[in-house]
Amino acid sequence: MKSVAIIGAGITGLTAAFYLKRKGVPVTVYEAGGRAGGVIQSIRKAGFLAEFGPNTILETSPKIAQLIRDAGLESRRLNSDPSAEARYVVRYRRPIAMPSSPPGIFASELLSARAKFALLREPFVPRRRAGKEESIADFVVRRLNQEFLDQMIDALVAGIYAGDPYKLSLPQAFPRLKVLEDKYGSLIKGQIFGARERKRSGEISKDRAPKFSFDEGLQVLPDALATQLGDSLKLNTPATKLTQTGDGWSVTTANGEAEFGAVIYCGTAYRLAELNLEAKAALNLSTFSEIRYPPVASVVLGFRRADVAHSCQGFGMLIPKIEGFKILGTIFSSSLFPNRAPTGHLNLTSYIGGARYPDLAGLPPEKLVELTLTDLRALLGVKGKPVFAHCVAYPKAIPQYNVGYGKYRQLLTELESAAPGLFFAGHYRDGVSLGDSIVSGVNIAERVEKLF
Ligand SMILES: Cc1cc2nc3c(=O)[nH]c(=O)nc-3n(C[C@H](O)[C@H](O)[C@H](O)COP(=O)(O)OP(=O)(O)OC[C@H]3O[C@@H](n4cnc5c(N)ncnc54)[C@H](O)[C@@H]3O)c2cc1C
Repeated sequence: MKSVAIIGAGITGLTAAFYLKRKGVPVTVYEAGGRAGGVIQSIRKAGFLAEFGPNTILETSPKIAQLIRDAGLESRRLNSDPSAEARYVVRYRRPIAMPSSPPGIFASELLSARAKFALLREPFVPRRRAGKEESIADFVVRRLNQEFLDQMIDALVAGIYAGDPYKLSLPQAFPRLKVLEDKYGSLIKGQIFGARERKRSGEISKDRAPKFSFDEGLQVLPDALATQLGDSLKLNTPATKLTQTGDGWSVTTANGEAEFGAVIYCGTAYRLAELNLEAKAALNLSTFSEIRYPPVASVVLGFRRADVAHSCQGFGMLIPKIEGFKILGTIFSSSLFPNRAPTGHLNLTSYIGGARYPDLAGLPPEKLVELTLTDLRALLGVKGKPVFAHCVAYPKAIPQYNVGYGKYRQLLTELESAAPGLFFAGHYRDGVSLGDSIVSGVNIAERVEKLF
């Protein structure tokens, strides 16, 4: 039986490899770096568990929980503390709890009377029937108002994409919002009627999906999958060239060439552009270098509980640009999961950079800590020095599904038909969240398995 080459041992590639192997399809996974997990990176040090990439998995699909069971990790799974649901958004230079129910919005100080009126008016704003692709900013200003964009959506967009709402595409980056308008004519009506439909179909919306991690952080998942792959996982082995052969593909690495029945590319878009592709049809990958991945630095700080005035009880706080802080937001990591900080301490994970301030992400660690501390002092009433500090910078963090991104997705579909046996999966195609990447890995394994 011919085997399958998987390029990239992030969560997408590992998930695809794990399921193919379970179905009896031989696999080889090539990973350019020295460890499995891609952007997932957890370390334990001095009693703190620092999570630099993703912090939680949102269980938006039954396929996610199934992977955890299949990988034998059910007993190590930690669901987030139900009392840590509160999310804060900064306004008037302080964190204000986001209302947990729609009526709560009207009592909240997060929005002015004018923005609350815009919300009441939203169901009567006519549906947009045609026209050029909108950014999320255009959409929000059209259906709600500028304040809603500046105060709420800008903060949410920083939290999900570390992105710029004026550039992110509504249909590509927030397809659900577009569907709500197309189908129900309004976001509010869509929330109400869509919830009933989701209940019927068993689908879970992002705001209601359970959030989880593992006792030793998210790294537990790629480590477990990598262990099950054994020798089939080749670390420090970047794939540099793909050549279409008589009945399959050959993959070139520094160790030479190897023949496969199929290849699944689960790397990043910018490294896809660097691959040398020799296919029977004339195909060009260089356009994928246009996809922007702004840099993000993760700054994990530990404090004595007594040195922080705010309760830090909740998921975390999001910060809109207009508030003038340098950090994009902070996750209250020690309130989400039990063992993220020693007793009597807090673990706070903040992010700097993104499309908002790309130049800041590359600052030296001391400077990143200083900027973060300045903001946390003002926002959370932090006193004194952190007892733990660790930073990791991702020079290319999250792909931006900006206006026009559809052409890249279209091209991937065309490449798959023009070059049979070559497949594409992962965060640059199927959604930027960890859950999206897991589902992408499961689905691509199902597609490829059918060929064998
Ligand atoms: C700072 C940060 C915070 C995040 N927070 C969250 C969060 O809280 N929740 C959430 O759901 N999501 C979050 N995400 C997003 C989520 O982590 C990613 O979308 C997901 O992990 C992507 O997985 P992947 O396997 O598709 O890609 P990656 O993790 O990027 O893995 C791709 C792998 O392919 C390898 N590779 C590339 N080219 C080659 C080649 N030619 N040969 C061999 N190997 C190659 C790379 O070295 C890499 O290891 C965050 C992302 C970042 C960066």
